[in-house]
Amino acid sequence: MTGREPAGSRPVEPDNQQMERFVNRYDYVIVGAGSAGCVLADRLSADGSRVLVLEAGGQDDDPRVKIPAVWSGMFQGPNDWNYTSDPEPGYHGRCVFLPRGKMLGGSSSLNAMFYVRGNRQDYDAWERDFGATGWSYDEVLPYFVRSENNANIKDEFHGSDGPLHVTTDRWISPYAERFIEAAEAAGFPRNDDFNGAQQDGAGMMQVTGHDGSRWSSADAFLRPALERDNVELVTDALVHRVVIEDGRATGVEYSHDGEVVTALADREVILSAGAYNSPQLLMLSGIGPKEHLQEIGIETLVDSPQVGQNLQDHPQVFLHYDTPGALTLAQAGDPRHMEEWLDSRTGMLTTNAAESALFLRSSPELESPDFQVVFVPGYFWDHGFRQPARPGMTIALTLNTPISRGSVRLRSADPADAPRIRTNYLTHDSEVDAILRAIDIVQGVADQEPLAELLADHVDPGEDFTRDQLVAWVRAEAQHMFHASCSARIGSEGEGVVDPELRVHGVNGLRVVDASVMPRVTSGNTHAPTVMIAERASDFILAANRELATTAKES
Ligand SMILES: Cc1cc2nc3c(=O)[nH]c(=O)nc-3n(C[C@H](O)[C@H](O)[C@H](O)COP(=O)(O)OP(=O)(O)OC[C@H]3O[C@@H](n4cnc5c(N)ncnc54)[C@H](O)[C@@H]3O)c2cc1C
Repeated sequence: MTGREPAGSRPVEPDNQQMERFVNRYDYVIVGAGSAGCVLADRLSADGSRVLVLEAGGQDDDPRVKIPAVWSGMFQGPNDWNYTSDPEPGYHGRCVFLPRGKMLGGSSSLNAMFYVRGNRQDYDAWERDFGATGWSYDEVLPYFVRSENNANIKDEFHGSDGPLHVTTDRWISPYAERFIEAAEAAGFPRNDDFNGAQQDGAGMMQVTGHDGSRWSSADAFLRPALERDNVELVTDALVHRVVIEDGRATGVEYSHDGEVVTALADREVILSAGAYNSPQLLMLSGIGPKEHLQEIGIETLVDSPQVGQNLQDHPQVFLHYDTPGALTLAQAGDPRHMEEWLDSRTGMLTTNAAESALFLRSSPELESPDFQVVFVPGYFWDHGFRQPARPGMTIALTLNTPISRGSVRLRSADPADAPRIRTNYLTHDSEVDAILRAIDIVQGVADQEPLAELLADHVDPGEDFTRDQLVAWVRAEAQHMFHASCSARIGSEGEGVVDPELRVHGVNGLRVVDASVMPRVTSGNTHAPTVMIAERASDFILAANRELATTAKES
């Protein structure tokens, strides 16, 4: 695909002063083919509208994309943006590795495949506390259901004929059930649907998988959309900026094959570049905090102080146990597992590495669970970069309700430069206090049979740590759940970047549709909520353009 004369577009005569540029025209230009962008490509093209999707990465044809167990093996490879944070003050000044998918499917092609929507309180708080009118749980639930094709659960919370396949892992470690039984022995209820009426309790995780393979947003939404000849995709297309004329987004400028290309959007430009790159693109286009743009040398078109602010993610800590003689994921590297996966899409490589989980409240007075705990029948630490000396298992605790917020800033006016990112993980002491309480509760689960015998050899953190040592350990070792969000959040002008229909304040014809718009990060993984956001946005966009068409006809 060259980007010069794509099918479904209307070529425009090159401007005489810009002879080197190729200009094409569409109804919608979508930037980013990730969790959200793929949904939009499908939904916005269903009525015959001309849609262009621009993706900076390439195809999702690395075989590891499809194999559930090896997702972290793709880190720092060509399909990862491979960002690093600025020093994180709550993490002893460590610069933290921040992977993001750079390929079709975006981060949904690189992620750990958990399908978790968060809970009712998340969305009700979006509406109640952040002015996100229309985003209460009752209003968003139909959009989760619309996307979903759930293989296991059939009830009012789930869909069974949507394009997004959801299931449980095909291979389940014999120890996963033991974890659930130990949680029950510690007093937690059994819960085999964290996306149903209640989030609390222990049970099996749901994942975005199908037939023993990953099922990304590209599989669910983009490939079907590309069957239509009114959808055009250009890969290896790095968008530089949104073109804004007289207060309206008229298109985008991107580089492809060494050329600078302009794509015009007759209706809308939609940024779905993710929580780091969507605010980056807004700022590169002159929409952002005036002082920061001045510092970088970019003319301010819209002084929008919240662009790049309010960034959130979930901090995570890992408890480790030596488990000599047990079956662990360390054995997944044996070639016979790959042969089995290639032959029949079965076996150890079909697990996403964490089949069972527990949602708990670190304090009884909380309205909903503040921790997501997953049991990994293998040793996972430091994103998989640190290798264990002996076979081991991991219990990962994620603080699902962080208070800390960080920022995304420009490093320079060069679109190829990585943005400056600081999440401010654990900069509130109350977050660390909650983690210490949760560690205590989870160790109480690990001490119950049928898990206690398996996890008797506790490695990390040391059992004799004082409170101060434990706090130091948390700050020295904590990582995160890869859930960047909220950096272009919904809110009124001055408080947010987009309105509740995700239109960028101060510019016509421009929306942000991705994890950036969350007012507060959800209490769980963020792919399912991002797909929901895009589903809901597609209805807003189609309705707005139907209205425009009716007005045009009448006048
Ligand atoms: C390693 C990892 C593990 C995770 N595990 C889970 C999990 O198990 N479950 C879960 O629910 N969530 C998980 N997440 C989070 C989840 O995948 C993301 O929240 C979600 O995919 C975000 O969707 P998005 O559409 O906002 O952005 P993305 O899916 O990241 O899509 C953004 C797209 O825009 C493209 N892009 C960026 N800049 C430009 C530009 N300038 N020009 C053109 N294209 C551009 C990118 O290449 C990318 O394809 C994980 C994330 C990671 C990275």
